[in-house]
Amino acid sequence: MVDAVMSSESPAPVAPAGGAGDEVAAARAAITAKLTYAVGKNAVTASDRDWFLATALAVRDRMVDPWIASSKATYATGAKRVYYLSLEFLIGRLLFDTMNNLGLTDVYRAALGDLGVDLEKLKTVEPDAALGNGGLGRLAACFLDSMASLSIPAYGYGIRYDHGLFRQVVKGGWQQEYPENWLSFGNPWQFERPEVIYDIQFGGTVEAIMQPSGYPRYVWHPSETIEAVAYDTPIAGWRGRHVNTLRLWSARAVDPLRLDAFNSGDHIGALVEQVRAEAISKILYPSDETPAGHELRLRQEYFFVSASLQDLIYRHMRTYGDIRSLADKVAIQLNDTHPAISVAELMRILVDVRDIPWDEAWDITCRTLGYTNHTLLPEALETWPVPLLERLLPRQMQIIYLINAIHLEKAKHVEGADDAFLSSVSLIDEANGRKVRMGHLAFIGSHSINGVSALHSDLVQKTIFRDLDRVYPGRINNKTNGITFRRWLQGANPGLTRILVDNCGDGILDDPTGLAKLVPHAGDTGLHDAFGSVRRANKIALARLIRDRLDIRVNPNALFDVQIKRIHEYKRQLLNILETIALYQAMRAQPHKEWVPRVKIFAGKAAASYHQAKLIIKLANDVAQVVNSDPTVRDLLKVVFLPNYNVSLAEMIIPAADLSEQISTAGMEASGTGNMKLALNGALTIGTLDGANVEIKEHVGDDNIFIFGLTTEEVAERRRQGIDAGAAIAASRELAAVLEAIETGIFSPGEPGRFAALTTALRHHDYFLVTADFDSYYAAQRDVDALWLDRAAWWKASLTNTARVAWFSSDRTIAEYAKDIWNVPVRPAG
Ligand SMILES: *Cc1c(COP(=O)(O)O)cnc(C)c1O
Repeated sequence: MVDAVMSSESPAPVAPAGGAGDEVAAARAAITAKLTYAVGKNAVTASDRDWFLATALAVRDRMVDPWIASSKATYATGAKRVYYLSLEFLIGRLLFDTMNNLGLTDVYRAALGDLGVDLEKLKTVEPDAALGNGGLGRLAACFLDSMASLSIPAYGYGIRYDHGLFRQVVKGGWQQEYPENWLSFGNPWQFERPEVIYDIQFGGTVEAIMQPSGYPRYVWHPSETIEAVAYDTPIAGWRGRHVNTLRLWSARAVDPLRLDAFNSGDHIGALVEQVRAEAISKILYPSDETPAGHELRLRQEYFFVSASLQDLIYRHMRTYGDIRSLADKVAIQLNDTHPAISVAELMRILVDVRDIPWDEAWDITCRTLGYTNHTLLPEALETWPVPLLERLLPRQMQIIYLINAIHLEKAKHVEGADDAFLSSVSLIDEANGRKVRMGHLAFIGSHSINGVSALHSDLVQKTIFRDLDRVYPGRINNKTNGITFRRWLQGANPGLTRILVDNCGDGILDDPTGLAKLVPHAGDTGLHDAFGSVRRANKIALARLIRDRLDIRVNPNALFDVQIKRIHEYKRQLLNILETIALYQAMRAQPHKEWVPRVKIFAGKAAASYHQAKLIIKLANDVAQVVNSDPTVRDLLKVVFLPNYNVSLAEMIIPAADLSEQISTAGMEASGTGNMKLALNGALTIGTLDGANVEIKEHVGDDNIFIFGLTTEEVAERRRQGIDAGAAIAASRELAAVLEAIETGIFSPGEPGRFAALTTALRHHDYFLVTADFDSYYAAQRDVDALWLDRAAWWKASLTNTARVAWFSSDRTIAEYAKDIWNVPVRPAG
């Protein structure tokens, strides 16, 4: 049943052995029945999209029995449940992932082949569910796959955005944003649950009613109610052993319209309340690393937290009938601070609704919640103005004040606690216009606070939460991120997977640590050839995509140098572009030297309001324009910016990459997961000692990675001293020439000032230390060139990367969460 993993790109409709002919016939019948009775089409009139819908619905059917069985087993055994609260789930396409986990790929390929349909073609028809910005949302998606694969009874809870992250179009080199319509042709994976509805309330007043006990009881009288409706997507784990639920909430007005207004002719006014309510699940805020300071964003956060807590408490009470056992039966993980209001809301439910005394309620809350921190960037640590919280969530704000009072009382007893210490640990930031610090709230209300790489967790402890760590020692821990190999190796790179299975056995599909068997054979030239031919096929496929989308021809024999991620100054795409220009100038100066042919591939979205990032995209495109049309560099250098980076595009680019750019300013990338995907697929990393790069280096070994640049400590030291970009530029002939080329308008003919905002920042502030790291980056790139020319050495390093990164499987990460934070058992498949 599971050998389907090895599905090749060759669409040979060979029926798998062992009663598989029956399976193919059954799949054919299932698809045909769906096409007829669910889609309402026949084989003659069906479009690719119809076939996709029919196939997805047939595959979904295969999840339902194990889904129900998983749920029954959890109820029957009283197993502890995990709830993963995340404002983002960047799940991408589900058809291949699901078929792969269920072992159905070959059967369905054969069944569709019999019907005259190419399964590979259906892949591109499925819309990409882009319900996330980047790494944080993709992590949540990888975790869903791993939790199901380890048979952890878990729910993902989030928002069903009508429009996910914007669709990026590049026009004249500039990014433009358009709404993403992932639902416009229906979503075959979801089950609407119109009966699962919760009231979500906002505003109003709080009444204190004196009790006979002498203590008041607080009653919230909200002024606004909207409804949260559940949509469930089953998430099948590896080998289909366990199926979990991703439950996403959609907002709905209590009344669909005001009939009186409509009847009196005010057709638009009749719909105002509905529009206001439904705005909550309309779009995903395109804010990566910077919080949108919008009231609507806070409404979104509370909306999904309130619905999720009501839902899980309802399930708990129905099963156990006792709220006091919540922490023993439930673990809630907060993915970043977006669900941090959970702390106050859970306390409100326990104290006001369930009548639990405050201290006991607090104990339950802290034992139930865990918080994952994803960033140290000060501008990304969420805060909400006190007046806004008082207006929107008045009772929760009272509770936050009370939590803070008790907390500050405790903090006073820490040795050496002075006013500065107390104001730094307070939930209220008094210095900046009274704001609630959501990171602090999540920290204080959780028993576990984790960072996402060893370096990041260390910095969490030493910087942003240094003082809180002294009040609550022992809570901070590390859980280095991971990626699901089912999607990022088996799904994205079936050719490489086949080689790995041939050489390491199919046990690696269950447990990738077996990949280490490859290490002693890393110098084997036969393996090099096998790796090489798979990489070449992947590069040809990517070259075709580049030609089709951009009309740029790239040479598949060139080194594919890849930087794909959100566009952000700290990720330093600018550093890569400057190096590209320097290389271009060097090639023009000596066109006949033996150059390593390169294709520089960029992809990534910039937040719509982030001007510097959008200007970086423009620069990349303008450099591409000049370089790609310059006959002197011929095939030696090409620059490509692929628009609309998302999971599906990542799945095309990563298996074709030779070099992985992970060049953030040290201390600023929490972990990175793109770095793991690329290393797993055999790309060599060029990177700084930042985030998980540090641990990747430890696993693959110093000889198989290109490390350059300032360390975290050196970055901090430079910033303390004051950054002298002028000196760095003066000391580097290449860098000075590059900046001059940009400033004289070589890449912006007729408009030399186009990139002034970028070059001025580099010359005068350079907070991200691009100039300081330029020379060492340029030198590291020349080391890359040298290794590339030694083909055997290159492939040995590439193979070693694949062989040694098994530890970065999200199964390992989730097993650590399960053991250290959630206290739940894991049961791997296989
Ligand atoms: C993995 C992934 C990311 C995260 O990439 P980083 O390089 O770690 O920032 C972002 N977006 C998509 C679509 C991804 O697949």
